Parts: sequence; C-alpha cells; structure tokens
Amino acid sequence: MALIVQKYGGTSVGSIDRIRNVAKRIKLEREKGHQVIAVISAMGGVTDKLINLAKELSEEPREREMDVLLSSGEQQSIALLSIALNEIGIQAVSATGRQAGIITSGSHTRGRIESIEPRLLKRFLADDLTVIVAGFQGITEDGMIHTLGRGGSDLSAIAVASSVKADLCQILTDVDGVYTADPRVVKKARKLPEISYDELLELASVGTKVMQSRSVEFAKKYGVKFEVKSSLNNNPGTIVTEEHAAMESVVIRGVSIERSQARVTITGIPDHPGMSGQILGALADAEVNIDMIVSNIASDQLARHSFTMHTSDLGRAQSALKPVLAELGGDASIETEAGIGKLSCVGIGMRSHSGVAAKMFSALGKAGINIGMISTSEIKISVTVEEDQIEEAARVVHTAFDLDS
Ligand code: ASP
Ligand code: MG
Repeated sequence: MALIVQKYGGTSVGSIDRIRNVAKRIKLEREKGHQVIAVISAMGGVTDKLINLAKELSEEPREREMDVLLSSGEQQSIALLSIALNEIGIQAVSATGRQAGIITSGSHTRGRIESIEPRLLKRFLADDLTVIVAGFQGITEDGMIHTLGRGGSDLSAIAVASSVKADLCQILTDVDGVYTADPRVVKKARKLPEISYDELLELASVGTKVMQSRSVEFAKKYGVKFEVKSSLNNNPGTIVTEEHAAMESVVIRGVSIERSQARVTITGIPDHPGMSGQILGALADAEVNIDMIVSNIASDQLARHSFTMHTSDLGRAQSALKPVLAELGGDASIETEAGIGKLSCVGIGMRSHSGVAAKMFSALGKAGINIGMISTSEIKISVTVEEDQIEEAARVVHTAFDLDS
C-alpha cells in the first residue's frame, strides 16, 4: 500500500463529466489498496472568470480581496469532487488550504508556502478517507487567505507530497509528459522517461510550458520526485528527479523554441564605465523584459549592445531609449528588427561533453539557417534565427543530437 499525492489541473476537472472521470481514476487507485490525497485546481476558466468580475468593479481591486475571491474557485471544485467520490462509494473529504495546514508568508496573490502542518490530513488518512485538498491557496500565521500565483496548484501538490512524505507524487495534466521538443513542431519528438529538475526549469525558461516553475524549484529544494502524466490515459509519463550520473550520457535532453522575438541594437556608444548601466536602467524603468544581451567594442573604440525582447515590448523599449540616445551623443544610433525566433538546447550532459555548440551551429549552417545572436549558460545554448525558419531549425537540431524517435 502506497500513499499517493495526485494533482489534477483545471482542465481535468473542467466539467461535471470530467470530475466524474477523475473520481473514477481515484477509485482505481483506492481499489489497488493505495491511499490518495488529490490536490486540485478550480474548474477550468473559473479563476479567469472571477478575475474578470472583479475587474468590472475596479481597475485595481485590492489584492486581499482577490485572494478571498479567487480561492473560492478551488473551494467549489474540492467539494464537487468529494461529492462525486462519495457517490461511487469512495469515502472522501475535502480540505481547504487552511484545513490542510498550508501556512504561507509573503504578499497577497503571490503567497509563498512557509510550512505545512498536515495534522488534519493525517487524521483523515488514519481514518482511511480519501482527501481532496484545494490547490493554489494557503493561510498566513494571522489567518489571512493567500493564493500562490497563477498555476499555483502545482506548488500545493508538491508541498503536500513533501509534508506527508508521499510514496509517489503525480502531476496529472492535459499533456502526457515532457517531450524532447514540442510534438506539434517536431513530428519526431519523443516523450522523455525522466528529466532533471534543472533541465525542466531551463526548458520552462525558454518556452516549454509544463508546469509552474516555482513548484519545480520547490521540488528540487526538498527533493520531491514526481511524475508528469496525462489525466486522460494510463500511459507512463515523465519522472522529474535529481540528476544522476547516467543522465549525463545524453548530451541534449530537449530543444525549445520561442517566437515573436525582437532585437534592438545600439551602436556608437562611448566606451565609458556606467554606459551599460544607464541603457539597461532605462529599459528596466520602462519594464521592458530583456532576454539575450550581446555586446562588443568596435575598432573605433565605440561599443555596441544588442538585446532581444518579446516583440510586444519593442515600442516601449524604443521610447525608453530615445532620451538615453540623446545623452550618448552624436555617434550613437539605434536599430531594431522584429520577426526573430529563438532556439534553445538544454541538457546537463553539456557540462561533460565538448563541441556541443559547434555541433548545433554546424547543423544549422548545413541547413542554410543563419544564426543571429548566441548566448550560453552551463546547461543551455540559445541562438536567434529568422522567425520563419524557427521550426526547421528545431527539427534540424533535434536530428543532429539524435533525439528523433
Ligand atoms: N486556479 C488557479 C489558476 O487558474 C490555480 C491553478 O490552476 O493551478 O491559476
Ligand atoms: Mg488553472
């Protein structure tokens, strides 16, 4: 007999039929003799609907009230799922964040889980009940309701699994695991049997959406191994876990793409201390989110900086840079380009293998795809290419690193 924590997202409990279906899945685990804690989201679309209602009343509703409002979505779904379970003969009880002992700190709408006191959960389990816990919510030491940021039920599930020392934690969702690439773009993409926390985090930072990144960070910190799998079928999913030696034999775990990127290049910048700070400061003040940065000094001793950002930030970046440019003097000018895509390769095997970048670049070169900017981190290499070549680029690199099925 094992203790299993399962998380079901908004889509999986998005209708009465789907709630019945989740109840049946939980019943199957109970019939195998396992104990189950299910952490669930609000029914799909409910959180957004509540946000819109508040926005009709106020442009900036108070965050304290947003927490009270949004947490009601999960309070509905846990009760409905418990009702569905009891109806098919499985004794179940619901628990709100407070009842589950999820203690948070930080600010409203972005609470941080500080600790979990699973006293009541343990009592329910001792009575052999199936427990349905509200995701996305917790309570502060002084009794205020907090929500945990959008997608926060993932975090709730990982934290609950850690606090009750679950034998297995499953994130059941509408994707059936983590793939070597987006299967809609790369037909030969494969589902990964396992991936390390760091690789999943890096892939998430460059466009692969599987689950809330904060929850993966939490899992890494507390060593919670979990499985991402489909809530619609019984196929094995992807295990997310600490890295181990055998994982390094694979150079690249996966590739990811981002579209709608833009580049801004500033040339003719006097090579003085403080210049980069001034330029980036202006962009930060305008809340432009900068991604890649490439800089160098030309033979005339003038510097040039290039940055990438999402295309939707380009207008704001241009206005923010105008006054800076005037200050830099006559040689400075600015150039912009939209229609850029970014391709990233991620893998912890990069640390111990050489020539990874060379392999990626020459594969792109052979396919006639021109590389714009390049940036690297310990386990990631990213390049920009023309946006209309991004899919082809992903396929070429996927093949080059033997990721095709
Ligand atoms: N219901 C919340 C949201 O939509 C939390 C979650 O789904 O994980 O963001
Ligand atoms: Mg949701």
